[in-house]
Amino acid sequence: MDDASIEDCIFCSIVGGSSEGDIVFDGGDTLWFRDVSPKAPVHVLGIPKQHIVSLAGVKGDDHALLGKLLHEAASVAAEMGLAADGYRVLTNVGANAGQEVQHLHMHLLGGEPLGPMRC
Ligand code: 5GP
Ligand code: ZN
Repeated sequence: MDDASIEDCIFCSIVGGSSEGDIVFDGGDTLWFRDVSPKAPVHVLGIPKQHIVSLAGVKGDDHALLGKLLHEAASVAAEMGLAADGYRVLTNVGANAGQEVQHLHMHLLGGEPLGPMRC
């Protein structure tokens, strides 16, 4: 990823503090913050602080980071009161999935029945 793309990345600017993010958990090399346009009563995004475009851009060295993000998804969900009724974790990759922000992110959704799998 070239520097220009990273400079244009809204999630990198939240990590860097130049854009505001409603942060719910800082995992050191990961960050969880509320989605600006929530699709459910609870809609939180989890990202690696490092700029990785999507799941398709994950390299061997990043495997531990991915596992950490998924583990954090469960603990953030529990922290937000979602454990009893359940929740959804998903990540969009590329055009057919409608990925808008080109920085890997996990959506954590919950707080009501989520219906068919859409985000
Ligand atoms: P995608 O479609 O790429 O999987 O999801 C991108 C998500 O990022 C969308 O749900 C959108 O509402 C959210 N989003 C886009 N820009 C911002 C922003 O500046 N701040 C926050 N907190 N969320 C954003
Ligand atoms: Zn980025």
